[in-house]
Amino acid sequence: MKYDVVIIGAGPGGIYAAFELIKLKPELKVAVFEAGHELSKRRCPIDGDKIKTCIGCKSCSIMSGFGGAGAFSDGKYNITNDFGGTLYEYIGKKHALELMHYVDEINMRFGGEGCKLYSTAGTRFKTLCIQSDLHLLDASVRHLGTDINYIVLENLYNELKDKVTFFFDTPVEAIKIIPGGYEIRTKKGAYPCKKCIVSVGRSGSKWMEKVCKDLSIPTESNRVDIGVRVELPAAVFAHLTDELYESKIVYRTEKYGDKVRTFCMNPKGAVVNENTNGIITVNGHSYEDPSMQTENTNFALLVSKHFSEPFKDSNGYGESIARLSNMLGGGVIVQRFGDLIRGRRSTEGRIEDAFITPTLQATPGDLSLVLPKRILDGIIEMIYALDKVAPGTANDDTLLYGVEVKFYNMEVEVSKKLESCYPGLYIIGDGSGITHSLSHASASGVHVARSIAK
Ligand SMILES: Cc1cc2nc3c(=O)[nH]c(=O)nc-3n(C[C@H](O)[C@H](O)[C@H](O)COP(=O)(O)OP(=O)(O)OC[C@H]3O[C@@H](n4cnc5c(N)ncnc54)[C@H](O)[C@@H]3O)c2cc1C
Repeated sequence: MKYDVVIIGAGPGGIYAAFELIKLKPELKVAVFEAGHELSKRRCPIDGDKIKTCIGCKSCSIMSGFGGAGAFSDGKYNITNDFGGTLYEYIGKKHALELMHYVDEINMRFGGEGCKLYSTAGTRFKTLCIQSDLHLLDASVRHLGTDINYIVLENLYNELKDKVTFFFDTPVEAIKIIPGGYEIRTKKGAYPCKKCIVSVGRSGSKWMEKVCKDLSIPTESNRVDIGVRVELPAAVFAHLTDELYESKIVYRTEKYGDKVRTFCMNPKGAVVNENTNGIITVNGHSYEDPSMQTENTNFALLVSKHFSEPFKDSNGYGESIARLSNMLGGGVIVQRFGDLIRGRRSTEGRIEDAFITPTLQATPGDLSLVLPKRILDGIIEMIYALDKVAPGTANDDTLLYGVEVKFYNMEVEVSKKLESCYPGLYIIGDGSGITHSLSHASASGVHVARSIAK
């Protein structure tokens, strides 16, 4: 065997798996195959000047390369079992939290030292929220910021590069079962290994589906989250974000009883495009460095859609809605809240007239032509509910970017060790459908590495 362990994908899941394997068993021959570029070569061409919107690069530098989808993320490591994935269902709540704290310690050691750890526990905001029928979830949040997150990744790469063989710009095409292990097939060649950890994240979801189909690994899929990214003056949420940084708030709508939640809050941050398999959706991030901060705060408002029989393609449903917005707007659509509730589209003029400057160049339009009524009604209800705890949220000038879609990878059937029905073939991170966050994905990597090292 050429390698003891091959890791597919160099996102947080893959990086932490490699880190822990080398720490516990330095004698192991470990290789990492990554479809995207090495960290220093990752660059999104959108400069807001010559290139204003996504041009569909062959390998999206936002989603792929060393650091995975997390490389230019806000670097918010949420240490909680309340959201970010269901790793605890496999390894227990206590162990999951221990692993997330362990990852946090490493992040601190590799450049994150000094970054603030926020906590919602015991704050007055819980009461404030509940009085308005809003529910604030418990979490500790380490906010690295996009800049420090990059430094941590750089340091982790320097730590690993001489101990692990990295193959960048090398998408794995197939995994074949061979006697005593697996063969990893790429355009550059085939590499046999004893064990394989698959950590391909969301950008690898389609490929993961194919692997599971080819190897008859059972999967399940029935959820997608659809919504908008809200952008408003940072002052509106400052009382919450100064103390908590990120507040995960859940609201149950009066009209349909659907749950709407805030997601990925970026104080003084920027709204960005996200390209998933050629479909442009919206996301957000922010910097720790005050000189790179904006005057706006952004966060997503999402509604979860679960499907029952006979429909199985929840991601396909989300993709169709995102495609509709891409068809109407050529990419992401932006609309003022005031225009939305008056039933009119936003125009360049109305956006320019607003008392807020958008941080993303998007096409002014009408989100009611894109989002299903039930989802849009839920979002509007939640905006009015949030207005009670953060007055100004329901202002006419509040910007809504659409659509934001959280695609959930189909959930792959794995054991408590995150091992598939094939011994030695592990599936971790967001690609497994079990995690949806930096901390859970990283923790899943550590968990598998420890089990292999044993
Ligand atoms: C803009 C943005 C902001 C975000 N902000 C946050 C945040 O603040 N906090 C948070 O918790 N989460 C955030 N997330 C989500 C977070 O980044 C992911 O949950 C996390 O990166 C998942 O880690 P992973 O290792 O499972 O997968 P990924 O990070 O997606 O890494 C998977 C890697 O596998 C590679 N790959 C895919 N297919 C193949 C193949 N066939 N062969 C070889 N390589 C392959 C990909 O190129 C990629 O580099 C954000 C995501 C985005 C896009």
